[in-house]
Amino acid sequence: MEGIVVKGIAGFYYVKAKDSVYQCKARGIFKKDGIKVAVGDIVEIQLNEGSDALITEIKQRKNFFIRPPIVNVDCFAVVFAIVNPEPNFAIIDRFLVMAEKSNMDIILCVNKVDLAEQAQVDKLKQIYESIYPMVFLSGKTGQGIEELKTLLQGKKCALAGPSGVGKSTILNALEPMVSVETGEISEKTKRGKHTTRHVEIFDTAFGAMIFDTPGFTSFEVLDADEEELALLYPEMQEYLGQCRYDNCRHIKEPDCCIREAVAEGKISKSRYNSYVEQIKEIREKSRKW
Ligand code: GDP
Repeated sequence: MEGIVVKGIAGFYYVKAKDSVYQCKARGIFKKDGIKVAVGDIVEIQLNEGSDALITEIKQRKNFFIRPPIVNVDCFAVVFAIVNPEPNFAIIDRFLVMAEKSNMDIILCVNKVDLAEQAQVDKLKQIYESIYPMVFLSGKTGQGIEELKTLLQGKKCALAGPSGVGKSTILNALEPMVSVETGEISEKTKRGKHTTRHVEIFDTAFGAMIFDTPGFTSFEVLDADEEELALLYPEMQEYLGQCRYDNCRHIKEPDCCIREAVAEGKISKSRYNSYVEQIKEIREKSRKW
């Protein structure tokens, strides 16, 4: 029977299959291969009378993350606040680059609009509206929540963004349905759900599944190469291949179409600055290596 791993805790995996949740053990063979079952995995399970079900196969993953350990993310909702805290464009663009690299749909969620002036909304729209779907939200008033639900429908989604921007508030507003009761296990192992932060994926009434990922607040490593970075900026695509040099990195080279597009206002300065900072970071990292 095929199912999805919705939670892993204390050596057990909880697999939702055909509307039931089964407590499973993973087959030893995975450990030998260094593969660990992760939340979001699509697996094959074998039910055993009188004992725990067994995960016998892990299906090929669409993508995977190490911290937090989740896999098969369809959609990444990058959350930031319009004020309190002020948006940090370097951080936002870092999330976006990593999401592009992992082959996910991306939604930009701008939260705390109840605290913002129209001019602040306009500024953000100017930078991002033509590149990514944007939702202007207030976890406090509920504004934008229905629109966000529509965008998330049918997908396995993760909310990511810096601390304090409102991710938990939005998650609650999306009304996740608790999938598994862990009381009994918590008592046995003395590692209750209140003391252990574990990753979990929740169903919702509107047909999305949402990863509850307390740790998804940063990407410590910018895992991209110098050559590919521009490919992870969708607005740069139409200019690539037109620069004088084939290996142009769009920093100082003459006749660079990207820099021209920035000067003409076709690519936003803020996004280009993030790109330059990321190139520097990648170069710094390779020097260290
Ligand atoms: P997280 O760290 O990203 O999960 O952020 P939280 O959901 O814990 O929210 C951080 C703080 O911002 C809390 O005090 C929330 O009450 C507040 N907050 C969250 N969303 C909104 C919003 O839309 N408007 C306002 N004014 N405050 C919000």
